[in-house]
Amino acid sequence: MTAPSRSGVDRDLVRALKNAEDARFAAAHPKSAAMLARGREVMPNGVPMAWLRGSYHHDAMWVAEGHGARFTDVDGHEYADFNIADMSMFTGYAPDPVVKAVSERIAAGNQFLLPTEDSVVVAEELTRRWGLPKWQFTLSATQANTEVIRVSRVATGRDKVLMFEGKYHGHFDEALVELDDSGSVVAEEHGLASDVARNTVLVPWNDVDALAEALQRKDIAVVITEACVSNNVVLLLPEAGFHEALRTLTRDTGTLLAIDETHTLVTGPGGLVRRWALDPDFVVAGKSIAAGVPMGAYGMREEIAAHLEQRKDEEGERHDMVATGGTLFGNALQMAAARAALTEVLTDEAYGSTATLGEYLANGMRDAVTEAGLPWFIHHLYPRAGYSFAPEAPRNAAEAYGIDDHLLRRVIRIWMANRGVWEAIVGAGPVVPVPGTAEDVDLYLAAFGALTQRIAG
Ligand code: PMP
Repeated sequence: MTAPSRSGVDRDLVRALKNAEDARFAAAHPKSAAMLARGREVMPNGVPMAWLRGSYHHDAMWVAEGHGARFTDVDGHEYADFNIADMSMFTGYAPDPVVKAVSERIAAGNQFLLPTEDSVVVAEELTRRWGLPKWQFTLSATQANTEVIRVSRVATGRDKVLMFEGKYHGHFDEALVELDDSGSVVAEEHGLASDVARNTVLVPWNDVDALAEALQRKDIAVVITEACVSNNVVLLLPEAGFHEALRTLTRDTGTLLAIDETHTLVTGPGGLVRRWALDPDFVVAGKSIAAGVPMGAYGMREEIAAHLEQRKDEEGERHDMVATGGTLFGNALQMAAARAALTEVLTDEAYGSTATLGEYLANGMRDAVTEAGLPWFIHHLYPRAGYSFAPEAPRNAAEAYGIDDHLLRRVIRIWMANRGVWEAIVGAGPVVPVPGTAEDVDLYLAAFGALTQRIAG
């Protein structure tokens, strides 16, 4: 028996448990295994996005269908989904209003390179929710953030973008950087240009002094951040006064501020911007906003939107165009899906019930770790819960990485999967989707409670 780690858990026990649970999972998924073998013949790693395979530590599971808060794999197992495709299906799978709207739209033509009325309704609804007057659309949050940076460059005449360490804002160059051990900004993955880090500044979350120092140089066009850093190994919440300082410092230095609500829009209509009365220059949204039909959106103030207004010379030739747009952006299908999702699924009542169930979930998890005597912190944010493997919540990414335990997270994931609970990205913590029920939460808590008892030894 080895000494318990900081998470209060014996390493040998965790390793043995992982091996046993991996074997159980493999034995229960012969059809998925066959599908993977077939996939390997035609796709790197056997899956349509090679990285997906790398993010799991067991063979990929192949899906048959999903309805509400649950889906079924090709081996016939049903799962209550508590990651819900990294929150992109927060509406639940196949919600009736979206199925209807999308079916009708595709039967009547789904893409024209011309607008449909739904786009006006969707932009009006986003304005009502987030208070920003002008909206543009893409196919993903990644592309929305890319355009936010470009419009910001035009509006400020500056090149750089500031983000917080531990962030994730998408798969675009400025965001695919991290700090190395010496504190330099470096590429996070392969395939990026050798000078990819030149336009990104990274500072620690909750560090007002570091933020002030970086902004004083007045070379940053825009700060892009989530209202709380939700893509780290755990949730990083803002300390009291941090958002006020961020807004004041950005204004004082002529820097624009974008709040990326791609994940946090699960917290309520108007996301955390509205919940916490934040006042950004841009809001970015994506994922669940069109019930998983590809869509990104960004809202902005009038004076910023003015940079996107059409400019033509006397011959009618375009000039001074900002680099935005794509053939399929703003297409009729995504607008039909978003209209139905926003007006009929992501309603005030739906947000209310997910937040109540999220609290029930977090309380149950807190009871479980207390009963097991594990020194873990349990957090709660509307429909979301989660845990840090330490008694207190980390303040920033460095603290979060310091208390993380990869092996333990992998055990949690495979243990839950073997008991009918799916958490694709365990570090994110569970989220209760719109169609989630108390019965789903009870299933989660039974599996989580059994695991905490088991690993506490
Ligand atoms: N912003 C945030 C906050 C996200 O969490 C993500 C995805 N996890 C993105 C942007 C990028 O979204 P997409 O991959 O759909 O472009």
